[in-house]
Amino acid sequence: MKNRYDCSKCPGYCCSYDQIEVSEHDIKRLAKHLDLTPEVAKKRYIKIDEGKTVLRHHKDEHYTSMCVFFDREARRCTVYEARPHPCRTYPYGATCGYYDFLKFEREHQGDDEFVATTR
Ligand code: SF4
Ligand code: SF4
Repeated sequence: MKNRYDCSKCPGYCCSYDQIEVSEHDIKRLAKHLDLTPEVAKKRYIKIDEGKTVLRHHKDEHYTSMCVFFDREARRCTVYEARPHPCRTYPYGATCGYYDFLKFEREHQGDDEFVATTR
């Protein structure tokens, strides 16, 4: 089934989710990609939030904060080949709710660059 969303036209909303959970396997893959030990990668890029092991964030002008691996200028993932499992499976089907919303807002505003926010 063909995807009805285009991440290359999206400012990366899904990378702003507060709790993107990672497994030990995800951390090992990221560490290998970054040429770090899993311990160092964990210390730099992972935190525990409400008992969950999640990716750290940094501030973002559009969505408050984004995953620490998100390039805020280019609006893309900097570790795409080694991204964690949840990032590989999202949005779990041929459609993305945020993309539909973004498309609607851009058409409505007549602005292809408009960044729709949900907060
Ligand atoms: S929010 Fe949807 S369209 Fe945007 S980057 Fe994520 S999956 Fe792609
Ligand atoms: S690892 Fe990449 S795809 Fe996953 S949330 Fe971070 S920036 Fe987005």
